[in-house]
Amino acid sequence: MMAVATRWVKHFEEGNASMKQLLGGKGANLAEMTSLGLLIPPGFTITTEACVSYYTSAQRFPEGLDDEMADALQALEAKKGQGFGDPENPLLVSVRSGAVVSMPGMMDTILNLGLNDETVEGLAKLSGNRRFAYDSYRRFMQMFGDVVLGLESLQFETLIEQMKRTNGFKEDQDVTAEGWEQLIDNYKALILRHTGSPFPQEVKHQLRLAVEAVFKSWNHSRAKVYRRAYNIPDDLGTAVNVQSMVFGNTGNDSGTGVMFTRNPSTGENVLYGEYLTNAQGEDVVAGIRTPKPISQLAEEKPAVFNQLVNVSRQLEAHYKDMQDIEFTIEKDRLFLLQTRNGKRTAQASVKIAVDMVKEGLITKADAIGRIEPMHLDQLLHRTLDEEASLDVIAVGLPASPGAAVGQVVFDADTAEEWANDGKQVILVRSETTPEDIHGVIKAEGVLTSRGGMTSHAAVVARGMGKSCVCGCDAISINNAERTFTAGKFEVKQGDWISIDGSTGRVFLGTVELKNPEMSQELTELLEMADSIRRLKVYTNADTPEDAAKAREFGAEGIGLCRTEHMFMSADRLPVVQRMIMADSIQERKAALADILPMQQGDFVGLFEAMNGLPVTIRLLDPPLHEFLPELAELQEELRKLPAGAEKEPLEKMIRKVKSLHESNPMLGLRGCRLGLLYPEIYIMQIEAIFLAAKACIAKGVSVIPDIMIPLVGHPNELAMFRTSINELADNLLGVDKEKCRYKVGTMIEVPRAALVADQIAKHADFFSFGTNDLTQMTYGYSRDDAEGKFLHSYLEQGILPNNPFQVLDQDGVGRLMEWAVTDGRKVNAALKTGICGEHGGEKHSIFFCHRIGLDYVSCSPYRVPFARIAAAQAALSTEAQPAGE
Ligand code: PEP
Ligand code: MG
Repeated sequence: MMAVATRWVKHFEEGNASMKQLLGGKGANLAEMTSLGLLIPPGFTITTEACVSYYTSAQRFPEGLDDEMADALQALEAKKGQGFGDPENPLLVSVRSGAVVSMPGMMDTILNLGLNDETVEGLAKLSGNRRFAYDSYRRFMQMFGDVVLGLESLQFETLIEQMKRTNGFKEDQDVTAEGWEQLIDNYKALILRHTGSPFPQEVKHQLRLAVEAVFKSWNHSRAKVYRRAYNIPDDLGTAVNVQSMVFGNTGNDSGTGVMFTRNPSTGENVLYGEYLTNAQGEDVVAGIRTPKPISQLAEEKPAVFNQLVNVSRQLEAHYKDMQDIEFTIEKDRLFLLQTRNGKRTAQASVKIAVDMVKEGLITKADAIGRIEPMHLDQLLHRTLDEEASLDVIAVGLPASPGAAVGQVVFDADTAEEWANDGKQVILVRSETTPEDIHGVIKAEGVLTSRGGMTSHAAVVARGMGKSCVCGCDAISINNAERTFTAGKFEVKQGDWISIDGSTGRVFLGTVELKNPEMSQELTELLEMADSIRRLKVYTNADTPEDAAKAREFGAEGIGLCRTEHMFMSADRLPVVQRMIMADSIQERKAALADILPMQQGDFVGLFEAMNGLPVTIRLLDPPLHEFLPELAELQEELRKLPAGAEKEPLEKMIRKVKSLHESNPMLGLRGCRLGLLYPEIYIMQIEAIFLAAKACIAKGVSVIPDIMIPLVGHPNELAMFRTSINELADNLLGVDKEKCRYKVGTMIEVPRAALVADQIAKHADFFSFGTNDLTQMTYGYSRDDAEGKFLHSYLEQGILPNNPFQVLDQDGVGRLMEWAVTDGRKVNAALKTGICGEHGGEKHSIFFCHRIGLDYVSCSPYRVPFARIAAAQAALSTEAQPAGE
């Protein structure tokens, strides 16, 4: 028979993994697994295009869909040897959403569809298990009532509790067939009361309503919130998967579970997951009964467990990634219901990627490509300081690592509201549902009293890299009072707690968080990145400690040492102020002579820490008034001076502050302008550099100073300094000049400097783009004013796509950079180029720097690992944008 080309419906046999766009993630994977010969209950997928058409044609089914569904059902009936609605041998199906991009728990699922008053009897007879049949029927009614008819789950739950109470049943497992039958009568009455119509008995009608409900669930507010949080377009639509049922609730020889092929928390290569005996799919995910760890299945059903081990290997080999699998055991037979790439913590993603390279499953490039650089933040920050004294009040499951500190809130709306007010919150719930997503997004961490490692809270928190402790039954929540108790402790809304998602511990009050060490796997992953990237990664560091930390993280040089930071410490400031207050050049030189040895010591420290790597030292940049107190402060001090006290020193400082006042200091006497007006300041710094170099060379330290002049806008500025630097080098280094291969270069942070880069490059060995100032001056925004006053509104209105001080403005600032690099290299082919503004640690900006051919990016020490990965990803990408965005 010739297959008839269908438009809206595809059987699982007709698809494959590459058809995600049309079949959704779940549908494409079911199709792929079917073609791999795995045990997949047969079924079909209604395409995303059908859902899109439903929305573009005033919420009507597209023409032909009903017929195609009828045909597909018929084929399914033939495959299963069952009839949809056949009282003797009923076919039952599940109906599930399946978007193109995975949105866990965001949309709805209906199981056991096809049951009615007649088919339930058929199921009872066929299975020889009346209790199972009626349990399935009540589950179906409840899901259908909730998803399709819009009743609240709670209303059904209340009826269950009532029924159990009147019949003396404690647990769900104790309920008899008669108990469920009684409940079904109550459900029918509830549905009739609320909808005005009886529960639909016609099975095709049930199916149609269910499909439509899945279409509609695409636009539920929780789905919209999720899409916004993850930048998922609104017009993709969801597919609907209609799949023949297998039953995990036929007795103790059945069950259902969720499993990861590796531990999604640590990355360890062991099966990881949970299952429930005699239960249906939703029971595990919903976190209603606490499931058993998968390792127990090895003892209970070794044959099934072994099958799972083999299936995991097969799926990993096929998908080349860790899988998250849903399975059902029906009478000791294993069926797979879903597989997808599993969400994982940062730690796990690193370990899994590195292990898979070693196992020969993926290449180094694959490993680097799949790491989300932002995730490294989670690895490199925020762990608990175990040395600190800790008040553990409860322990739950370690669902998503990292520590978090915040004020307790008990619902998602409050979490959002408080977080918007700038508070740090921990969301505490008995369990979270997809409706809580906006609160989870805003919370520092999540604590739940129920649910396992694969409950909603756990899965979502891991995906977001947020700390989560779940299934913490040691706490008892009173939502009405907005409190929870843990043993003798009572915690109220607003109280501070801390949680550690790596161990499951909950603490009263705030705990110290500390910076973590590099793991072996991360080190290996970063080495892989190093073998791929072209951009070098430097760091912005002003102290030997920062420099050493950055070097530990793999920094290949210092790209910016802001020497003004060395002038700010309590012991130095008075000397610096003396230098500023000097009435004569002699006085100023005397003060500078006192600063010189300190500054020399600073540089020795940096050279030693970076032994053999370049150290870019920027000469003094900020306006001098920044080293003096505020005028108002001084005037206040003067007013408070006791009678008879000497006023002159204060009055002098006030006069100085007034004389240094500028109407726009950002564009005033700063940078090299300062160095030209007060040459002795820069001379002292240059001397300190060369004296430090000489001292280091004597100790066998290899020094590579890159001396950087800030705020150059005219080539003559740089030319002047270059001459004096060379003269001082000759005078101070003597024979050591050979061993001190210093460079002289400039920041490019004034637009004019970029425009006349060819003229400036004649005097420069390197350019370092100071994109903080370059952004300010290109846009004509002062950063503090912009961020404090209007940038927020610009972003909200969509005038700017993002904050240009965080993400480099490629069209404007980037264009200047590209121009400067090209023109600079025309006259000086050896010109070294880099970036040292904040953007040097930002993913999109790093991609851009790679594309325009810079030699290095420089960022803060903790961002160095991140930049190494991003630089490698940039090298792997042919685009100027990170993949997937
Ligand atoms: C810059 O302007 O980008 C820069 C690195 O210098 P600063 O932030 O110190 O002005
Ligand atoms: Mg600057």
